[in-house]
Amino acid sequence: MKGLKIDLEKCIGCRACSVSCTEGLISLKDADGYRVLSFPGRCPVEQCRICRDLCPTQALEVTEKLSDERVECKFPLVACKSCGSYFATLNMVEHVRKTLAHIDTAETGWILLCGACRKELSLVA
Ligand code: SF4
Ligand code: SF4
Repeated sequence: MKGLKIDLEKCIGCRACSVSCTEGLISLKDADGYRVLSFPGRCPVEQCRICRDLCPTQALEVTEKLSDERVECKFPLVACKSCGSYFATLNMVEHVRKTLAHIDTAETGWILLCGACRKELSLVA
């Protein structure tokens, strides 16, 4: 048994951990314009580090401290500028913006479009 610690300042709600956890221990729900992720304070799969290793912002830490409390993170979702469907959290969009800050904003308009609309509008190759 090991502890899991989520850094609420770093997590962007990308869901990479949730969709990759083989035990389904990290829950996710998108509803009413928000994404809610719930993290366990302990994990019984001794050798696994998948969620920590996949996290793009190093928000998850494996610790020796075990907790029975789950920690919830709530993120506002962003609607696609073209079709209006929710496609990402605001924190994800901000993370992409910061990461691509060196690129001309005229070339990064696709950031506010969902994947389907990006394809349809041929804004990406
Ligand atoms: S360490 Fe592995 S089993 Fe445990 S919560 Fe993370 S992905 Fe799931
Ligand atoms: S992979 Fe990291 S940033 Fe993405 S939801 Fe999980 S903890 Fe948050």
